Amino acid sequence: MKTGLLFLLAATAALAQQQYDLLLRGGHLIDAKNKISAVRDVAIRDGKVAAVAAKIDPAQAFKVVDVSGLYVTPGLIDLHVHVYANSADPSAYVGDHSVYPDGFTFRAGVTSVSDAGCSGWRNFEDFKSRIIDRSKTRVFAMLNIVGSGMKGGKFEQDLNDMEAKPTAEMALRHKGLVVGVKTAHYAGPEWAPVERAVEAGTIANIPVMVDFGRAYPERSMPELVTKKLRPGDIYTHCFSGLRGELEAPGHLNPAMFAGRRRGVIFDVGHGGGSFVWRVAVPAIKEGFLPDSISTDLHTGSMNAGMKDMLNVMSKFLALGLSVDDVIARSTRNPAREIKHEELGNLSAGSPADIAVLRVEKGSFGFVDMYGARMRGSQKFLCEMTLRDGKVVYDLNGLTREDWDKLPQDYRASGSPRWDGTLGYGGGGARRKTSAETKK
Ligand SMILES: [Zn+2]
Repeated sequence: MKTGLLFLLAATAALAQQQYDLLLRGGHLIDAKNKISAVRDVAIRDGKVAAVAAKIDPAQAFKVVDVSGLYVTPGLIDLHVHVYANSADPSAYVGDHSVYPDGFTFRAGVTSVSDAGCSGWRNFEDFKSRIIDRSKTRVFAMLNIVGSGMKGGKFEQDLNDMEAKPTAEMALRHKGLVVGVKTAHYAGPEWAPVERAVEAGTIANIPVMVDFGRAYPERSMPELVTKKLRPGDIYTHCFSGLRGELEAPGHLNPAMFAGRRRGVIFDVGHGGGSFVWRVAVPAIKEGFLPDSISTDLHTGSMNAGMKDMLNVMSKFLALGLSVDDVIARSTRNPAREIKHEELGNLSAGSPADIAVLRVEKGSFGFVDMYGARMRGSQKFLCEMTLRDGKVVYDLNGLTREDWDKLPQDYRASGSPRWDGTLGYGGGGARRKTSAETKK
């Protein structure tokens, strides 16, 4: 009895000394906000970054993970995805074109996404209860200026359903969750979709993201980025070449630079039909880098040239950007664009959303929307992802013990203090639904 009590006291004392839940040791930290690109230890406590330093005493951590040789970055932020997955419509983004976020994010180092306009003010709260509230991924949304969102052809062309006021009201009702207003796919010559999106964005004090649909002489990309959009508004699909981004073969339209000088943001939004080497290569050569790198993830793009966030980021390594630069444009910059500056950095006190990445060297191929390939020698791979301080993805079991060193009758090996992949009440990793949690 007495020795048992002493042991318990000793164990409690040891635990008390372990002020950190998890320590990532020896990785190369890239934190653009804090201007760090160097080997650093990162300690986590209660879901937050607790300390960043050249050396942190491992005895202070409950769990230590060696990440030397790997990059430690803020969790990636993909600001253009489509995740209003449901069985409503086989051919719409409110339906089969969308994917469920958790199935596609953590494995690519992504911890936050912004759904780019799948829902409008009429169905945002349905989207919220079905997807946002049930996802482990941080899901933000840009409301479509179309009240019914991306329900397909005729809905997205209906000018009568593009209303600034109810859109802004819904955005304000869910402040922080609704991070923008989206206008997309419009095929007519009128400016109304853009103008009403900007009106809604102005009332709600959030940016507008534009997928410019079809361009017309009376509704041109130069006029959009030099006159219609406000500083901070986002022009996505910037390397599609479909709306006059090139002035002539091999030369970028000077309007792109003029838009940038006014403060308009240029985002990749790769997608199934919005990234072309013959646009991206001259753009980069002329010094026109994208402000943010994003996927435009949907069931069409993920199995074509886009694939995932890391593949799109790797394309920019192939284009000659540095690892540091690519990471900044996939973390710090998108966080700023959606006004969530608490994300996209690893300052002490920030949410411990973290990606642990490997840059593989070898012979790789990267394919654009027309099936043209660019060769490259580097590729990002996600080794581990943390969301709010919990490991939610661990490709090679960096956090794990060898099976034959565990007790013979081992069960879930780890601890809920840092592990978000296994269930610790028995029965595996199935997450409770929000309905079960409410009980
Ligand atoms: Zn899209």
